[in-house]
Amino acid sequence: MIIVLKADTEADSPEVRRLIEQAESFPDVQTELHQIQGATRTVTEVYLIGHTGVIPTEFFEEYACVEKVVRVTEKFRAIGRHEGGLDAVGFEYNGVRISQDSLHVFPGLCAVDQPENVEAMFKALQQNGIETSRAGAYKPRTSPYDFQGHGAACLSYLFDLAGKYGIKIIAMEVTHEAHVEEIQSALAASGQATGVMVQIGTRNAQNFELLKAVGQQTEMPVLFKRGMGITLEESLNACEYVASGGNRRIVFCLRGVKSHLGDPHRNFVDFAHVSVVKRLTRLPVCIDPSHSVGSRSRAPDGLLDVFHVTAQGVISGANLVLVDFHPQPEQALCDGPQALLIEELQPFLEDVAIARQAYEARLSRVAART
Ligand code: PEP
Ligand code: MN
Repeated sequence: MIIVLKADTEADSPEVRRLIEQAESFPDVQTELHQIQGATRTVTEVYLIGHTGVIPTEFFEEYACVEKVVRVTEKFRAIGRHEGGLDAVGFEYNGVRISQDSLHVFPGLCAVDQPENVEAMFKALQQNGIETSRAGAYKPRTSPYDFQGHGAACLSYLFDLAGKYGIKIIAMEVTHEAHVEEIQSALAASGQATGVMVQIGTRNAQNFELLKAVGQQTEMPVLFKRGMGITLEESLNACEYVASGGNRRIVFCLRGVKSHLGDPHRNFVDFAHVSVVKRLTRLPVCIDPSHSVGSRSRAPDGLLDVFHVTAQGVISGANLVLVDFHPQPEQALCDGPQALLIEELQPFLEDVAIARQAYEARLSRVAART
């Protein structure tokens, strides 16, 4: 059961304390208090955990500070909307607000290779007013003989350069819980020059120990990439592992699924699930057109497939776009063939803006009718 308190209710007010005491007076019931910073208000929710089936919701509805009481359905307890009972609230990290309503583009290097390429990338982002990026230091590769990423060795210059060019968040994959600590200490050593959103890659979508580890730290948000060969429900359950560890700042990323039916794309593009994930969960939804398409194939109309699928996700309301760029793709140590060029950054952002405007126009049309 989740008790949503009225906007800006003080979590330690006598009334809330009384409510919590009363909730815990039921046998086998514990409570957890979650405060979520929204765009215009702070939402406080009291989670009742345990034997709550017998507790009538009316019991708590009588409190003046209570907005509503939502009975939790079995599925997706921590991340779910519970049949529309809960709104998506989003979160703020390092000054950037991410929610089911916002849109942020994260263009960047698939893998960090040399400081010059990182600098060229971040400089281009700053020139285009972008404060969010991606950069891989720990690369899970299909072959053990392929470049595995520079690991902790590149973090110091990466974070310093991010600070220099005003990058607020870098999405960075971790493949082992030790990487989380390495990132945290490098961020501390840089004087928190930037922020990191910890990425769980598709290959680790069901690495439950890793999911628990990133869920137990609450400093950095988590970008979870759906498992490429498992159902959507299984991927959402994996996010429950993260959330139940305590970290609710999760973004769900669609990156295509493995099936020959997607050929000649690297993966079968699954951006039709943007609206599905938004309906089932409170999580902001990211799309990764680069790992979905996997090439620089161009349609006869002149647009790259990466541009086309991005537009498809954005016109459906995607909240983040994670996309590979590289100043010199022929020198990239990972995924060069799918990288967009620096000179394609501005046209890409313009194309995203067109798709976003179309999405907003579609929303206004629906709002006018209801
Ligand atoms: C990546 O984003 O660099 C990556 C490896 O993605 P995925 O886990 O989706 O394959
Ligand atoms: Mn890649």
